[in-house]
Amino acid sequence: MSSGAPRGNGQEIRLSRGASLSDFADKINANPGSLVQEMFNLGEMVTATQSCSDDTLLLLGEHLGFEVHIVSPEDEDRALLAQFNIDLDAEVDEDRLVSRPPVVTVMGHVDHGKTKLLDAIRKTNVVAGEAGGITQHIGAYQVSYTHEGVDRAITFLDTPGHEAFTAMRARGAQVTDIVILVVAADDGVMPQTVEALNHAKAAEVPIVVAVNKVDKPNANPEKVRQQLTDYGLLAEEYGGETMFVNVAAKPGIGIDDLLEAVLLTADASLELTAPVDGPAQGAVVESHLDKGRGAVATVLVQKGTLRAGDSIVAGGAHGRVRAMLDENGNQVAEALPARPVLVLGLTSVPGAGDTFLAAEDDRTVRQIAEQRQARRRAASFANSRTRATLETLMEQLKEGEKTSLTLVIKGDSSGSVEALEDALFKIEIPDEIQLKVIHRGVGAITESDVNLASASSDATATIIGFNVRASNKVKEMADRSNVEIRYYSVIYQAIEEIEAALKGLLKPEYEEVEQGTAEIREVFRSSKIGLIAGCLVRTGLIRRNAKARILRDGVVVAENVTISSLRRFKDDATEVREGFECGLTMSGFGTPQVGDVIETFEMREKPRA
Ligand code: GDP
Repeated sequence: MSSGAPRGNGQEIRLSRGASLSDFADKINANPGSLVQEMFNLGEMVTATQSCSDDTLLLLGEHLGFEVHIVSPEDEDRALLAQFNIDLDAEVDEDRLVSRPPVVTVMGHVDHGKTKLLDAIRKTNVVAGEAGGITQHIGAYQVSYTHEGVDRAITFLDTPGHEAFTAMRARGAQVTDIVILVVAADDGVMPQTVEALNHAKAAEVPIVVAVNKVDKPNANPEKVRQQLTDYGLLAEEYGGETMFVNVAAKPGIGIDDLLEAVLLTADASLELTAPVDGPAQGAVVESHLDKGRGAVATVLVQKGTLRAGDSIVAGGAHGRVRAMLDENGNQVAEALPARPVLVLGLTSVPGAGDTFLAAEDDRTVRQIAEQRQARRRAASFANSRTRATLETLMEQLKEGEKTSLTLVIKGDSSGSVEALEDALFKIEIPDEIQLKVIHRGVGAITESDVNLASASSDATATIIGFNVRASNKVKEMADRSNVEIRYYSVIYQAIEEIEAALKGLLKPEYEEVEQGTAEIREVFRSSKIGLIAGCLVRTGLIRRNAKARILRDGVVVAENVTISSLRRFKDDATEVREGFECGLTMSGFGTPQVGDVIETFEMREKPRA
């Protein structure tokens, strides 16, 4: 069947990730309908405007004779910024470069002392101490240290854990200059030590090893040095290039030596410079939605100077810097390279590792943010949508098991709608539940919102009104179509309730709670009721009808057993306590032996975290 779509001759075409058939058609001067037809012939039902997966685009390209290149989000972002004459990778003239502090991430095996070490280092910062020291956790901090008579700053990323490091790298934000690898001297190299080491190597970041807990009697710092040679880290004292420093984070021993080693390593192997003039660029270290202050983000300036009042865009969030705070809660007017600051004034919450940049005016940052959001939506849509072949459609119909909460969000400003949506998608929910936002918008709740909610394919959607209301007419219509409308004026409350609703969708989970154990002392055979086990209750109590399992020499020999009758002497009993004897019969287990242990339990509903 010919659909009239043009054939290529191996020509290259570039499509962005998540492009639709319409986008494809634009590139090859075709009618979108003809591509829908082509896809149908290939066995996939795709509408013209639906965002497609990489596979779909490549398949169609191959079929029509075009070489499709799917443009990565990074390339696309470069192209987007180029439209605004912004080039993040532009060469900077030598004479604009000034030296900047190193940025350090602490990594290592769990319990080896990362958190303690970060605390201990923070305490060496005398300046903060004098300021009254209401230190805040903002995800990064800077300490100053006098090295060879010169005051030097070092920036620490205060989010221990390898995830933060890799998440940032995955988003293209290489912010770490040096990794401090913490290894407990009483425990040695462990799996996460190796993992951390590999992350640092992959990022080509020099390592300083902090051999921690040397205060412990069983500490063996030399062994750590030995072990790490197997992974290519040879200590300086053995002729290698890696600095190893013995420290004890808890009592605060060796911290100065460690800072010294960081600076020596930085000076020896890195040329840390950045321009301080020009608009700021950098990366988001941490971000969240704050009850009182709205979206807050800790950013690390990497180039230029960030000032209060600047217009910035961070990932898909934008805004004007209303205020900047350092880790001591002090307002700062400007932030130079390697300076982490908490930024207030963004309209939504960016992700950790998103890059940020300051631009000329509000309009530019808003346009960049909006285009990025649109692209992300398209991309996530493409990923979440399984290919709608006839086969998979049938399967989905059969499955029908996923529970989902579908929402329409209306709010008084695009900022609040975005912030709410962002926050909702950060709620941790189990896999079997899906949260979907099928529509978002600014303004009062309208009839068309209700129509959309009731027409939602999975389940009726709930409408969230954030500082907006529905007219009486719309309310009646919603009642008639069983659409629930909920109003909120505080984002936190909305999130809490929706989180509760999501958890409410879960089927209850049960956990086993042990009731008691009994040991079989004798086995009798009764002609009327079969085998009777004469027992002594060892712990807890044994109840009639309880579920049980049987252990023989510590091994489970029967499961799904029920205590079917229970007697004390000649009388029926409902329960028999620890220390007493009883006779019982069981269903589900026909071969009781002297010495077997009966363990009974009940299933109790588990409270959700
Ligand atoms: P993390 O999981 O790597 O962040 O480890 P923590 O910083 O939470 O430390 C784990 C445990 O080791 C805690 O109980 C600390 O008190 C203890 N610890 C950390 N550093 C030292 C140290 O230098 N000496 C001793 N004796 N204990 C330490």
